[in-house]
Amino acid sequence: MSDFLELDRQNVWHPYTQSATAPTPLGIVRASGSWLYDSDGGAYLDLLASWWTNVHGHAHPAITRAIAEQAATLDHVIFADVTHPPAATLAARLAAHLAPPLSRVFFSDNGSTAVEVALKMAFQYAINCGRPRSRILALEGAYHGDTFGAMSAGHSSGFFTTFAPWLFSVDTIPYPATWIGDNPTEKEAASLTALDAYLARHGGECAALIVEPLLQGASGMRTARASFIAEVCERVRRDDILIIFDEVLTGFGRTGTLFAHERVGTSPDLLCLSKGLTAGVLPMGVTVATERIFSAFRGQDISRALLHGHSFTANPICCAAALASLRLFEEEQTLDRIAKLSAIHTEELAILAQHPHVAQPRALGSIAAFKLLCGRGEYGAPIGRRLRDAMLARGFLIRPLGDVVYFLPPACITSEELRSAYRALSVCIDEIRG
Ligand code: PMP
Repeated sequence: MSDFLELDRQNVWHPYTQSATAPTPLGIVRASGSWLYDSDGGAYLDLLASWWTNVHGHAHPAITRAIAEQAATLDHVIFADVTHPPAATLAARLAAHLAPPLSRVFFSDNGSTAVEVALKMAFQYAINCGRPRSRILALEGAYHGDTFGAMSAGHSSGFFTTFAPWLFSVDTIPYPATWIGDNPTEKEAASLTALDAYLARHGGECAALIVEPLLQGASGMRTARASFIAEVCERVRRDDILIIFDEVLTGFGRTGTLFAHERVGTSPDLLCLSKGLTAGVLPMGVTVATERIFSAFRGQDISRALLHGHSFTANPICCAAALASLRLFEEEQTLDRIAKLSAIHTEELAILAQHPHVAQPRALGSIAAFKLLCGRGEYGAPIGRRLRDAMLARGFLIRPLGDVVYFLPPACITSEELRSAYRALSVCIDEIRG
């Protein structure tokens, strides 16, 4: 069975991995609930929900049943000039969960494509309205995916310097990251001043603002106050700038409400969803647009339409998984489970924050994060790797972002499992710095 590790060594190229220095990958052959299992019977608690995707736990019977039934009924069909029950029903269910103006669901393949589509919609919307706008505004440190448009929007995350010459230019204002016990009032005021200056110069040229609401994930689980995001949105709206919320990470309960923008109290014009959309089991993205934006693409001329689509657009099996996941949110009261996890995070972080090498604790929904003070902080930094290895040896899978350590477990994790992860973490921090 473990021959696959040798096959992997010979033929696989892994994502976000320096293969010259990375350890042999963990070979996982089975998953159930919050646990991943290797071929030797080793078990690992999935504390990053398999790259922020898994919602209700691995191999959940309701999800696997929905997938199997759909695969046997209608596996796939072109989605241009064709529709099917899973896609139409999912679009209606998503719209029912969102504020009324967000009513048109455009399907794509993943988080990056959901962002690409939103950017294309924003640019073409301005053109279709007869007032082209060429600028995009983002918040410093934002990450929106790895395709070229998404990399451009997220250029300030620092992940894409190699590709800088090929990215289109995107403007940024500072992001007032905050944490438990911090007072971000001055940082927020400075950011709003920068925003006002930007709007005074370029407001009329800007097609859209793109934001990861409440939480910047990849740049280090950096939280911002909901009131700040709401204020930014209110100011850009005065210049008729569209608001894109990238909820690829924050969607589907991660921050405690079904969508983070509920906490912000602002509904965007374009909403990007993926990861947890299918319960984190199959790849799919959606960009949800308001009826006003959709209407601007209607007309007698094909050039007014959005000429964008992927082979697997609205794959029925992915849609069936997404529908089953939405049902589980009600049947298993997933948001209540997340509220309980959140309370444990807050309690445990308060203890962990006493540690001399732990700083800037933050907790939001099922996510907890902090900064390690005992090492350099770049992506893939040795300190994070050492901590990952120490945790793995005890049966806990984490993947720090540089010196930022986070837990982002599936909602089915038990209180005991989560608390045991905190116990192990504090032992491992002492171990790696000793
Ligand atoms: N936006 C955000 C906020 C993300 O966190 C990610 C992925 N980490 C993406 C977009 C890109 O999603 P994908 O990896 O599915 O392309």
